Amino acid sequence: MLIPFLSRYDQTEDERWLTRFREFLPEHQVLRHAELSETQRANARVAIVAGPPSEMVLAYPKLEWVSSTWAGVETVLQAVPPSVGIARLVDPELSAKMGEAVLTAVLALHRNLPEYAAQQAQHLWRKLPYTKPADRTVALLGLGELGLASIEALRPRGFKLIGWSRTQKAIEGLDCFAGHEGLQRVLAKADTVVCLLPLTSETTGLLNAERLRNLPQGASIINFARGPIIDEQALLTALNDGHLRHAVLDVFDHEPLPSDHPFWGHPNVTVLPHISALTDSRSAAQIVTAKISSWLADGTLPEFVDRSLEY
Ligand code: NAP
Repeated sequence: MLIPFLSRYDQTEDERWLTRFREFLPEHQVLRHAELSETQRANARVAIVAGPPSEMVLAYPKLEWVSSTWAGVETVLQAVPPSVGIARLVDPELSAKMGEAVLTAVLALHRNLPEYAAQQAQHLWRKLPYTKPADRTVALLGLGELGLASIEALRPRGFKLIGWSRTQKAIEGLDCFAGHEGLQRVLAKADTVVCLLPLTSETTGLLNAERLRNLPQGASIINFARGPIIDEQALLTALNDGHLRHAVLDVFDHEPLPSDHPFWGHPNVTVLPHISALTDSRSAAQIVTAKISSWLADGTLPEFVDRSLEY
C-alpha cells in the first residue's frame, strides 16, 4: 500500500522521518507529498501527518483517517476535514520526558535558581531562605497524559500537589478541581502553576490578566503546553509589577520567539526553544505506524480525537 507523509517540514526532516516509517512498515511504500502523483493522492485512504498545511490535505479527497506524529492536535484539526478521523500521538517516552522537564523547572524555582543567576550577574554572595517542599503548592493545569506523567515525576519530591481538568478527577495524593470555580480555587492556592492543557477555543487566553491576578503574590508559572493559553501581555504586566515572580516558558504565541520580544531580555523569564518534550522519531514512528498496520491487517481503527472537545 502507498502511504503519504504530509508534513510542514523541509525535505531533510521529511527524509529523517521516512527512514523511520519505512523501518516499521517495510512491506508498504511511505512517500512524501511531493513524490506522489495526482492519481495516487486522489486514492489515498490513510496518511501519516505532522502539522500538515491545509492546502496539502485538500489534495487527498478520499482520506478516511490520519495518524499524527504530534501530541497536540490544534493544527491538524484545522487542516483536516471533519469527516477524517485523527489519531494523535500518545508516547510514553515523550510523557516521561515531559515529567522530567516539569520536575527540572519546578525544582529550579523551588531552589531559587533564577534569583541566584541574577545575583551571580552582580557578583553577589547572598543566601536566600529555604522553604520545604511540603510548604509549597504546585498546581497542574491539565491532568491528561502529560499532566499525569508530571505528577508521577513530582510526587516523590514532597510538594503539595493540586490539579485542574475539564472533568472531575480522583487521583491519590492530589486535590483535584474542575470547572471555572475550580480554576479560581486552584490558582488562589498555587505557588507554582504548571500548564499542560491543550490549545482549544476554551483554553485560548485562559490565563488572562484577571486569572493571573488570582495567583498569590510571588507565584511562578511554567508553560510547557501552548503559548496562546497565556495572555503574553498580561503575563509581562504581572511580571513587571512584581505580582508574579518568574515564568519558565517553552512555548509562545509566535515560534521561534521573535528576536525583539521582551521575554528574551526579561530578568524574570526563562526562555526555552520548545524543547520540554521533544518527539523521539523512532518511538513516535513505531507508535504511529503500528496504528496503520492494525488497520491494514483487520480494519481496527485507533482512538480518534473528539472534534467537539478539540483535543
Ligand atoms: P491530554 O491527554 O489530551 O490531556 C489534556 C488535559 O487537559 C486533560 O486533563 C483535560 O481534561 C484537560 N483539559 C482540556 N480542556 C480543558 C478545559 N477547557 N478546562 C480544563 N481542563 C481541560 O493532552 P496531553 O497529551 O497531556 O498534552 C497536553 C498538551 O501539551 C498538548 O495538547 C500539546 O499542546 C502540549 N505539548 C507540548 C509539548 C512541548 O514540547 N512543549 C510536547 C507535547 C505536547 P479531562 O481530563 O477532563 O479531559
